[in-house]
Amino acid sequence: MGDLVNPSESTYDVVVVGAGIVGAACAYFLVKEGLRVAVLERGIAGGGATAAAMGHLVVMDDSPAQLALTKLSLQLWKELEEQLPSSAEYRQTGTLWIASDDEEMAEVRRKYELYRSVGLACGVLDSTALGEAEPKLRRPLAGALRVLGDGVIYPQAAAQFLLRGVAERGALFTDCNVVSIQGSTVLLGDRTRVSAGHIVNAAGCAAPELTPGIVMRKRKGHLILTDRYPGFLRHQVVELGYLKSAHSVAGDSVAFNLQPRATGQILIGSSRQYDNEDAAVDQDIVRRIMERACEYIPEVATLSVLRMWTGFRAATPDKLPLIGPSPENPKVLLATGHEGLGITTSTATGRLITDTILQQKSPIPQEPYLPSRMSSEAVHSDSFVV
Ligand SMILES: Cc1cc2nc3c(=O)[nH]c(=O)nc-3n(C[C@H](O)[C@H](O)[C@H](O)COP(=O)(O)OP(=O)(O)OC[C@H]3O[C@@H](n4cnc5c(N)ncnc54)[C@H](O)[C@@H]3O)c2cc1C
Repeated sequence: MGDLVNPSESTYDVVVVGAGIVGAACAYFLVKEGLRVAVLERGIAGGGATAAAMGHLVVMDDSPAQLALTKLSLQLWKELEEQLPSSAEYRQTGTLWIASDDEEMAEVRRKYELYRSVGLACGVLDSTALGEAEPKLRRPLAGALRVLGDGVIYPQAAAQFLLRGVAERGALFTDCNVVSIQGSTVLLGDRTRVSAGHIVNAAGCAAPELTPGIVMRKRKGHLILTDRYPGFLRHQVVELGYLKSAHSVAGDSVAFNLQPRATGQILIGSSRQYDNEDAAVDQDIVRRIMERACEYIPEVATLSVLRMWTGFRAATPDKLPLIGPSPENPKVLLATGHEGLGITTSTATGRLITDTILQQKSPIPQEPYLPSRMSSEAVHSDSFVV
């Protein structure tokens, strides 16, 4: 951060509001292209939803646009692998999408065909092969899709790594509250103003406070972290029913989703709740998560739990993030609304935001993610899709 104490003391090409993983990735790609960047964060870097996340880097295919964004993101994470510090705990564990019956096996085959058609390395495991891949899983299960390029990362350390370069061509200011964005100027809580060619609103769930009119809902999630059990699990394992849970728009949902951390700890998820902004841990949800985990891996019941916490995902009506110019103010670029995929898709978001500012072609079309899609369709908070 150098010797600057106030961001108004210097000039910047871009001001990024928010030092979560999304703001950090935007800053990373902007700095890499030689732009001067100030990142303004009202708390600590990576301390928002980023600190609450599981860190599963995963390809998803709810829509062609989601598949394109997650696939590009995984490629970009892979390209960063050599530079990531060991503290970021990046590992290509692969994902096992578990099918418990014939209906879910049909979904395994559909995903397999689709993923293969776009060049993703994957394979179908039958019941026996699944048991060999993850011996702790209950038997019999119908099978699974193994997606080899998926991985895991420690989100807060990854965000801090992405912000490192900012010190060379700009600055990171923490404890720096942005109260409003006016044109291409941000107003800070201490009444100073910082101007730049572009402002990136990467304030996560708080983005609508700075850009009124963004339609987003907070989606609460719980996670549970165990003591160290090296070798307990090899892959990120997720029930295919997770997709039903992720798609649900009404009520609370819980799905089996387990991650082996590099430390040997097991991260147990996951839950989704709308209309609950209380950050407290809900013991009933925790019980349901543990019961679901034990249905798939009975030995989970014997693991010692160290910690549990909650966080909030920023959900848009069509389950795609908002990446690109604000319809009301093209000097402001939105980079928010990543719901449960923001750790994964931060890299592609940073790439797309940088390409927009530099007016250069992106590796994938930007249209599906443009915020203007919301205003043109008169989207309201009751139009969240299933
Ligand atoms: C329980 C849970 C599990 C998850 N698991 C995964 C997963 O396995 N894989 C995955 O890809 N994603 C996962 N996610 C989603 C992921 O955490 C989010 O999509 C991602 O962290 C969003 O990053 P962000 O930078 O947009 O938001 P945040 O991390 O919330 O960052 C926004 C930042 O902006 C700052 N800010 C806000 N307002 C202001 C202001 N006015 N002035 C200055 N600063 C401001 C905040 O302090 C914050 O640091 C999970 C989320 C949850 C809740």
